[in-house]
Amino acid sequence: VQPVTEAQLRSCFINCSKGEAKRMAVPRDLGQQPWEDLDFLGWSDPAGSGRAWLAWPAGTGTAIAPTGGKAGLIGVAFRHEPNASTKTQLCSLCLTAHSRGGVSLMAAAKAGDSGRRGNTIGTYLCTDLACSLYLRDKKKPALGLIVPESLTIEQKVTRLVNNLATFVDRLQD
Ligand SMILES: [Zn+2]
Repeated sequence: VQPVTEAQLRSCFINCSKGEAKRMAVPRDLGQQPWEDLDFLGWSDPAGSGRAWLAWPAGTGTAIAPTGGKAGLIGVAFRHEPNASTKTQLCSLCLTAHSRGGVSLMAAAKAGDSGRRGNTIGTYLCTDLACSLYLRDKKKPALGLIVPESLTIEQKVTRLVNNLATFVDRLQD
């Protein structure tokens, strides 16, 4: 993806208030992200509040946009509890298998009025939201278990972006 600025990040969220977006902890090393290897930027609150965020340039690069929403940079805010499960779990976006804590059930408020009334959608995601790096073997899950797949990296990226587009669509339903 193209590098994004703090100002772009703070104004792209579809499911949190402007105040929350203003208080959000943006990555300190925003200038040094491995942009070329990212399909979206994901990060969590270094203070350990259980908040996490992702920003995805819908409709650019891989040319997939959510059907219901806007194209352009789309931000999604999540909250999650610490995950004490000892089971191996799969991220629903990139399908990487992780051991304890590597995947978390993340809750995202729905966009608009529905979210303000408290409706959320839960999904299992890599806790560090580094899906793009796992797909490209730039980061290895702690489990060390790679589920063999016959897909190319491009096919995996397409699947990841499709999964993300579907999720963003559901948030905006
Ligand atoms: Zn993932």
